[in-house]
Amino acid sequence: MSTTLFRNVRLIDGTGALPVSADILVQGNRIAEVSLQPGQLTGDHRLVEGQGRTLMPGLCDAHTHFSWVNQTGLETIGLMPVEEHVLEAANNAKTYLDHGYTSCVGAAAAKPRLDVVIRNAINSGRIPGPRYLANGPEISTVGGLGDVNPSHVPAYTYVEIINGPMEMRACVRRLIKEGVDLIKLNLSGEEITNCKAEETTMAEDEIAEAVREAKRKGLRICAHARSAGSIKQCIQYGIEIIYHASFIDEEGMDLLEANKEKHFVAPGLAWLHQTCHAASEWGIDADAARNMGYFRELERAIEGCKEMHKRGIRILPGGDYGFAWTPHGTYARDLEYFVDLLGFSPMEAIVSATKLGGEIMGSPGELGLVKKHYLADLLLVDGDPSVDIAVLQDPSRIAAIMKDGVFHKAPTFDSIGASVAA
Ligand SMILES: [Zn+2]
Repeated sequence: MSTTLFRNVRLIDGTGALPVSADILVQGNRIAEVSLQPGQLTGDHRLVEGQGRTLMPGLCDAHTHFSWVNQTGLETIGLMPVEEHVLEAANNAKTYLDHGYTSCVGAAAAKPRLDVVIRNAINSGRIPGPRYLANGPEISTVGGLGDVNPSHVPAYTYVEIINGPMEMRACVRRLIKEGVDLIKLNLSGEEITNCKAEETTMAEDEIAEAVREAKRKGLRICAHARSAGSIKQCIQYGIEIIYHASFIDEEGMDLLEANKEKHFVAPGLAWLHQTCHAASEWGIDADAARNMGYFRELERAIEGCKEMHKRGIRILPGGDYGFAWTPHGTYARDLEYFVDLLGFSPMEAIVSATKLGGEIMGSPGELGLVKKHYLADLLLVDGDPSVDIAVLQDPSRIAAIMKDGVFHKAPTFDSIGASVAA
């Protein structure tokens, strides 16, 4: 079995503990040893001299769309032929891993089998990419988010449109048959679309049917939930992953706190922040964004997330990357937003992207920390992200990326390849 020894690194283990000097031994796809007395681990290993670089767990993005292609609107991905779309999605999967993301939670695919095919290709080693929870298209009601289709035109949209619990059941069953890991429900709208953020769009019996059918097959559920009502529906129906949660009210906050072991919140701050501040090139200047309601929503989201953080509710980075103004490859901006906008310490932001990442991936106890017996998903970083979180945005500062014990990016500096004599 292949072994790699990272010697003399500054270890950020993902628990929030202060960085310490350490040696880490990887055996096969697991961490075999973490020694806090550098120089003590010996044996015949591939050696990586850390020279004080930071070793930390690989990052997790909690709201990923491999099939968003840096487009300005979602109609584009509805119309894109599937052949081109597969290639684009494969490229985006690689881009995540290239930037140190070793785990991603699919937050909807533009076509039913896109995520599934990419996940399977990653798992079989045919293409590079992170560990991935595949999603299907978002499920919306008639007139809900993404139902952009004029009624007289055959459907081309990027969402699944259902009407009533029986259509919901059929849709969920079909997606499960295709092999998705998650079901995504659009419980609220979105300012930029046909259906607004504070609308709560799905009927109770439709949600109940989706949850019953998904849980019967052991699948987890996530929801686009911006409105106050939709957030409460997530808690009421046990929808584990709550996306956005911008307009949470006091009642919702109390309910969420009381059920905080059951839920993850991924606010998707990049989308809100960049729509307000970086979309003018695409026709959304500050005035337009303000008129659409995005400044107000960003303010409310920041306020809500700060309160959630205070109450110990699990909030994770993952910012709806893949729009023109949130392009692929800029994923780690989300960690900086957690620090700058939400008042997280850099170390708290790292914990959200690593330890909580292992939890949302469904693998607590083996993913998201640098700890003995954990899966070896590791980054070697030039610099200290617990001091400057922005270093994670620069791929040239990520000296090595290991996923499942294998280097996706091997270190290129001089002191590798030697073995340590026993
Ligand atoms: Zn999204």
